[in-house]
Amino acid sequence: MGRLISALESLALLREGNQRFVADIRNQEALPGRDRRLELAAGQEPFAAILGCSDSRVPVEIVFDQGLGALFVIRVAGNIVAPSQVGSVEFAAEQFGTRLVVVLGHSRCGAINVTLSQLQRPKENQSRNLHSIVDLIRPSVEDLLATDLKYDLDRLLVCAVRANIRASVNHLRHGSAVIEQLIRNDHLLVVGAEYSLETGVVDFFDGVPEDLG
Ligand SMILES: [Zn+2]
Repeated sequence: MGRLISALESLALLREGNQRFVADIRNQEALPGRDRRLELAAGQEPFAAILGCSDSRVPVEIVFDQGLGALFVIRVAGNIVAPSQVGSVEFAAEQFGTRLVVVLGHSRCGAINVTLSQLQRPKENQSRNLHSIVDLIRPSVEDLLATDLKYDLDRLLVCAVRANIRASVNHLRHGSAVIEQLIRNDHLLVVGAEYSLETGVVDFFDGVPEDLG
């Protein structure tokens, strides 16, 4: 599909797939099978690149009801953007013509929670590797702790999840000359979305052109 499909068409496919998931309907044609596997061995044209969280409750292909070869997926705790994530998105857009990039965060994200706890009660013995994730989340959520939200931890987490998604979207849009150029010249679209663990609904809340929001 890749080169033939625009960002907005891709977005519509993701929305439809998520609606099926929420309604407990599966696209039978998307179920993995031998024929499709062999067909794809020769090449892929994923229609969207998704940067999601590693959380076991948010498997990207399942929540969008997509099969083999449909989505180029990058998963990392807290859906953070480090150079390897930027490189993966550049790769998908350049190699496969993928025109839609989605940062998919989710409610009650553990990585955000750890970051908020760390900011409130710093622990000395945190591993350096985990720290590298917390460090990337910290700038987007730090300001929230200076507001009245610090008295309402549930609400704080809700706002922090969204702030972190927005920060990742922003980083992808502006952290790479390659991606900036694709946005300017080739209608690449980078949007932010939040998955609700409770309802299964994906809310595309950041960067979607207004008439489609
Ligand atoms: Zn998470």
